[in-house]
Amino acid sequence: MGSLEVDTDVTRAVRSALAHVELRKLPWRERPCEPWAVLVAETMLIQTQAPRVAEVYPHFLARFGTPAALWSAGLVAVLEAWSGLGYYRRAERLWRGAGIIVERWGGECPREEAMLRTLPGVGRYVARAVAVQCGGLQGVPIDTNARRVLVRAVLGAPATERVLERAGSALVEGGDADRLTQAIFDVGAQWCRARPRCSECPLEGSCRMCREGLADPWRPGRPQGAYEGSLRQVRARVLRVLLRGARGIADLEELVGGDAELLWQALDGLRSDGLVEDDGHGSWRVPQRPRGLPEGKSDCGDRNFPLGSALDQEQVS
Ligand code: SF4
Repeated sequence: MGSLEVDTDVTRAVRSALAHVELRKLPWRERPCEPWAVLVAETMLIQTQAPRVAEVYPHFLARFGTPAALWSAGLVAVLEAWSGLGYYRRAERLWRGAGIIVERWGGECPREEAMLRTLPGVGRYVARAVAVQCGGLQGVPIDTNARRVLVRAVLGAPATERVLERAGSALVEGGDADRLTQAIFDVGAQWCRARPRCSECPLEGSCRMCREGLADPWRPGRPQGAYEGSLRQVRARVLRVLLRGARGIADLEELVGGDAELLWQALDGLRSDGLVEDDGHGSWRVPQRPRGLPEGKSDCGDRNFPLGSALDQEQVS
């Protein structure tokens, strides 16, 4: 599969169809050339559905419109503003990344893939997404939606990441990578889903799977396990309580129904993600400063966020 050929006729036809896809109006598309705004949006979108991100993103960005604003707000305020998105590890990394941007580049978020990759939590997909939208990179960042569309519409067969990136680059070779990438995402989100809706899809006439009557080459990943009773749920509960202030281990044990093993698993995971710390006196809390950055760069003393926040029921990973 590593040597799978990209058919130029199919590529041309799919490109042409993509150029006519009407793009969805999404809040992060209103500031397409600002790398910080794109970095925030793409970080949120990694593990959260677009409609949920669309609710949180405008408020988050209004409050933290620059890396310096996010960094100086402190981790507690950032986690609170992240409420509703789940997977809080992303928020902690984004916050640390903001500190690095301030320290290293005077608060100017980079737009080059290689520089972005040096930030915590910024993987190949997010770095390329920012570089395509803001840095002129002619390629397609490969997320799950893009992967489904490329596998079905362009390649007609399962493929490695390397082949997918080659297929994406061939698609945008003539320019307009940013718009074409958005169109791929929208096709993947609206029609080319796990169960494809080909008869309504704007790519139907050009799609390789449809035109050649191929068996579906998409291989879905493992479904996520149940949330109720999971380690993820315990992590969310613990973090919610600690956002309100430091707590002793006995309190936390009670919170999780006395399951000490599950509690320690949650605390160990949250601690290694930099989301909680032991204060050295038997209590746990959300840290005042991130690891690995100089002290005095962040004033996290203000914990006056609304109590009873929507952290209940959320996922933390
Ligand atoms: S026509 Fe069907 S398989 Fe092809 S891109 Fe559209 S939804 Fe996916």
